[in-house]
Amino acid sequence: MKILLDETAAAWQHKARRFAEEELIPFEVEAEMNGGALPDDVRRRHKKMAMELGFSSMDAPRQYGGLALRHIDQVAVWEQLGRVTNALCWCFSEPHQWMFQACTEEQLKYYVLPLMDGSRKECYAITESESGSDVRIETTATRCSGGYHIDGEKWYVTSANHADYFFLQARLADGPHAGHDAMFLLDKGTAGIEEVRTPLFSHTFDHHHPILSFKHVFVPESNRLGAEGDGMSYSHSWFRHERLMIAARCCGAMARMIEEVTAFAGKRMVGGEPLIDSSWFRPCWPTASRICGHRA
Ligand SMILES: Cc1cc2nc3c(=O)[nH]c(=O)nc-3n(C[C@H](O)[C@H](O)[C@H](O)COP(=O)(O)OP(=O)(O)OC[C@H]3O[C@@H](n4cnc5c(N)ncnc54)[C@H](O)[C@@H]3O)c2cc1C
Repeated sequence: MKILLDETAAAWQHKARRFAEEELIPFEVEAEMNGGALPDDVRRRHKKMAMELGFSSMDAPRQYGGLALRHIDQVAVWEQLGRVTNALCWCFSEPHQWMFQACTEEQLKYYVLPLMDGSRKECYAITESESGSDVRIETTATRCSGGYHIDGEKWYVTSANHADYFFLQARLADGPHAGHDAMFLLDKGTAGIEEVRTPLFSHTFDHHHPILSFKHVFVPESNRLGAEGDGMSYSHSWFRHERLMIAARCCGAMARMIEEVTAFAGKRMVGGEPLIDSSWFRPCWPTASRICGHRA
């Protein structure tokens, strides 16, 4: 299916494409050879450029200095950024629109708006060993003076090695909403948080997905998002936005892969002819041309 972008979305697509092609892709091999990491000065430059291009304020409301882009514009951006390997496009953070409905002014000031100017970085601690697609949280939040104690283990907390705070979902252990979930903003440096291990994935990212344990970790009541019991709805808001943008990145990655494979097959000689002309490669053409717009 071909989706025609209007002028605005096409302009965002173009901007992101240039950033991906000219600034990020040239560093892929270096990142791959270095466990996904790039030198600090390069990382800082990528972050600055991404922020100047407006990528860190795409979803934030205008009254907070954001651009409040339409979803189609944001998808056009993330699709192009998805063309890049090694998660090099994760060089900036961005607040999501739902956070502005969920957070108090204080929370916005200390946690959410700093994502836009790059001074803070968030990560999401939702998943657990038994809680994946079926989100059934076992980590508990037990009421104590001034707040809660968090106890449990969170899996695959992406970017925890770069972040300085978590959005953490926990099940309320007591009080009138016991058994329901709440969402908290939790500073990474808080006592009682430890890394259990960092599982290896098939990609080479500098953003790791560690498993973390939380033992009697204090979080003030003022760091709870919304009301007790609202936790799951905030996770759903995050999923709705983030999963859509993951899908966009996957489309970009797929298009790039087909382009790279096609270019390679055009140059690679097998049995005296380019691979692309061999009889078994031809049936792939209709799919490649549909996805990438190439002529079969
Ligand atoms: C790279 C990566 C980064 C991640 N980052 C984060 C993060 O930052 N924060 C965080 O909290 N979590 C993170 N996760 C966890 C992620 O959200 C979970 O992996 C996801 O929710 C799926 O859960 P699961 O792995 O337990 O798979 P499962 O829920 O066990 O699913 C296994 C398979 O079964 C299928 N399936 C599940 N239920 C059904 C059903 N009812 N009917 C039919 N099929 C079904 C699924 O589609 C899947 O293919 C990350 C995971 C990965 C791989």
